[in-house]
Amino acid sequence: MGQESVCPETSYWKVMKTAVDGDRLVLHLIPIRAWVSCPLCGGPSRRLHSRYRRRVMDLPWFSWPVQLIIRARRFFCDSPGCERRIFVEPFPKALSRYARQTQRTRDSLLELAHCSSAELAARVTRLLGFVTSSDSLLRLQCREHFSLVPPRVLGVDEFALRKGRTNGTLLADLERRVPVDLFEGIAAGDLTAWLQGHPQVEVLARDRAWAYRLAGQTALPEAQQVADRFHLVHNISSALKDFLHSRRWNVPESAGEPRSSSLQSRGTRAMRGRWEGVRRRKDSGLSLSAIAGELGLNRKTVSKYMASDLPPEYAGHPPQPSKVRPWLPYLGRRWAEGCHNARTLYREVVEQGYSGSGRHIRKAVQPWRNGSSRPVRSGPLPKMLVLRPYRGLKTSEKRMLAPFLQANPLLTQGHRLKEWFHEIVGQGEVEGLDAWSHEAARRG
Ligand SMILES: [Zn+2]
Repeated sequence: MGQESVCPETSYWKVMKTAVDGDRLVLHLIPIRAWVSCPLCGGPSRRLHSRYRRRVMDLPWFSWPVQLIIRARRFFCDSPGCERRIFVEPFPKALSRYARQTQRTRDSLLELAHCSSAELAARVTRLLGFVTSSDSLLRLQCREHFSLVPPRVLGVDEFALRKGRTNGTLLADLERRVPVDLFEGIAAGDLTAWLQGHPQVEVLARDRAWAYRLAGQTALPEAQQVADRFHLVHNISSALKDFLHSRRWNVPESAGEPRSSSLQSRGTRAMRGRWEGVRRRKDSGLSLSAIAGELGLNRKTVSKYMASDLPPEYAGHPPQPSKVRPWLPYLGRRWAEGCHNARTLYREVVEQGYSGSGRHIRKAVQPWRNGSSRPVRSGPLPKMLVLRPYRGLKTSEKRMLAPFLQANPLLTQGHRLKEWFHEIVGQGEVEGLDAWSHEAARRG
């Protein structure tokens, strides 16, 4: 391998030494230009101030991460009238001032991140030998967007930087709908510092966190602060949720089990009766034809019932928990023998090694019971239906919700206020807000 072929920019540096350090290749580079230009005034300088070591990552070499250690230099600027006295040697197009990787590395990473997600790109690039993470790719993308055009309308939001472990602040350009920056922490100070560096921000859209509000007031007192639409809708929904949980609600008379289930159990009951008849006659030694003749049943049905240890059910019966399933033939046999007591059945299967709960046994035999003697229990309040946008509900869900709203006038008021609010926000009807707040206050 010719050393020059791996050096990122041969007009700036030359490779002094290559080495292997643990899991990476290390290239030691020294700058070779005799004259460099001051980045402020552009004047040339060759008067050296000092040297320091700069470590950056370059493109990987056959899946090996490559690190550059550059003997970077500082120079004096001697141009009369230039404010900069000392400057760091710039490497235009190859390495920017604070970058931790070369420009060509950044370009490749960005290209990959743009093609997919930061998460996916991080996985692929690590395989290729890049040293990176999804967070740093996201940050790279943010900086790239931000360097193009400074945002006028800025959205500020809190988010989980490393799933649940660190909270961070995400800044987005709401006009262009792109992320512009993100940093760790949700403190007012961090955002204040950021905003002070970006005075062009005119509108600051944020959630209702006090820290963000404070930062906006401190750094950009002139900027207009708005609570963004998402958080407004979110707030009203959580207010309704608290209200829902704050008291017990009436359950309407008619809101029992769905009608289809009683039809189903009646159908099943007739089928079960026939099955029990077949099983009894089989146990007493009757032949298939004799049973079919005696009960007036089709031979196919009789053969099916003779072979089955379980009472027949309509298709679509909810699946049994996996711990119960192996015991169903035994339970069915005992049921046919006349043992209809769930607790007895439970004790019997436990003795034989069943490790599930008694509740599951009770539920498993429930559909086999003759005409339920237990009172029909009313369903609970369908809270999710109250919280979801009414517009998005299916007709059957609306029908289910209606009796609950009818039985609870107070809940109806809350529900109507939420729906009204969604409408105002959804259509951007700012005038409607006054009427809404007035009504909401009146209703308490
Ligand atoms: Zn200068």
